[in-house]
Amino acid sequence: MLTQASVAVLSLLTPVAQPEGEPPERFTQLMGWGGGDPATIVPAAAEAGFTDLIVWNQDPAYLTQLVQQAQPRGMGVYVSLYLGDVKDWKRRYPDTSPPTQEVNAEEQEAIARINADLKAKTSDYQYGGEPVSDKLEVFTNELLCFHDPRVPEFFRAQIRDILAVPGITGIAFDFFGYRNYRCCRCAKSMALLAEYQKAHPDLTEAEALQRFSLETLVDVQNDLADYARQVRPGTLVTGHVYPVYLPEPLYGNRLNWDTCGQTAAWFFEPFWSEEKIRAYSRVIAGDAKRYWPNAEGGALIGVYVRPGQYPVKGPERIERELRAILDGGVRCLQVCSLNDVLNDPGTREVFRKFAPQKPAN
Ligand SMILES: [Zn+2]
Repeated sequence: MLTQASVAVLSLLTPVAQPEGEPPERFTQLMGWGGGDPATIVPAAAEAGFTDLIVWNQDPAYLTQLVQQAQPRGMGVYVSLYLGDVKDWKRRYPDTSPPTQEVNAEEQEAIARINADLKAKTSDYQYGGEPVSDKLEVFTNELLCFHDPRVPEFFRAQIRDILAVPGITGIAFDFFGYRNYRCCRCAKSMALLAEYQKAHPDLTEAEALQRFSLETLVDVQNDLADYARQVRPGTLVTGHVYPVYLPEPLYGNRLNWDTCGQTAAWFFEPFWSEEKIRAYSRVIAGDAKRYWPNAEGGALIGVYVRPGQYPVKGPERIERELRAILDGGVRCLQVCSLNDVLNDPGTREVFRKFAPQKPAN
């Protein structure tokens, strides 16, 4: 079934050049999102051919250990900011309640329905990926509202602390999006939208909402990326475009990152067809430099190996998905979860097979 989002993406396909000849057998960069004990996880990731690790844990002592393991192996370490980080907000500002995104009554009802369906194990909820049902889907996690200037300030503080750890390659972005996949409905966001509408009287209300929501979503991430490069020149920036922004799911080429991870093969059933994976990969690779000539397009593949909890793709399916991504022209691969890949020998072998070839010793 083509969702609205797929149609929007497919309509972008025409101007994208098809890669010529046979696709290569390997990616040139392999980035794993995960965590865990540095002494265990880094050697295992290096052995499987990973070039970079992306972690959410910002604890300086942890990051120092991670760098100590990764640096001698030539691996990069990225530390992710994440818009759901209410916990760190409370740690840093215990006396100020976190400015979180708000949803309307209908969306609130959808959250209650999704939670009930998840409990009953009858849910097709996609956890922030493109919805597959016609029912209203809303992200059930809390997210901060970046329209409140205190939120970018909070992330600037995180960036300073992360980059104070020697040897960190760069920062990453995760969970930067909207709970209803379109906009935030809090009073602050609505007031800024009203100003935007006043400044753009030619736009309809719907157009203004969409443009305001996308522009501010892009700007906050680009401003923070610039800030990181200013705090420590040479800092690299990556991330995963998530949760989905429904009016333009592959908006990641607007982000001034060094490598932009966009979803090419989602975690959950119904697993994406090879046709869809190839189509998305063509846009990810082909349109990567439209706004920022130095940006590299990256594809994110979702892999959980947690039988009983989530559907398991298995090595054969993963191999077909990886070939479809290469065939679409993408050369940088991100996978989440790194730990799931490393913990399952069959899955690990597939990634090793497609990992960048190691230079001979
Ligand atoms: Zn808001």
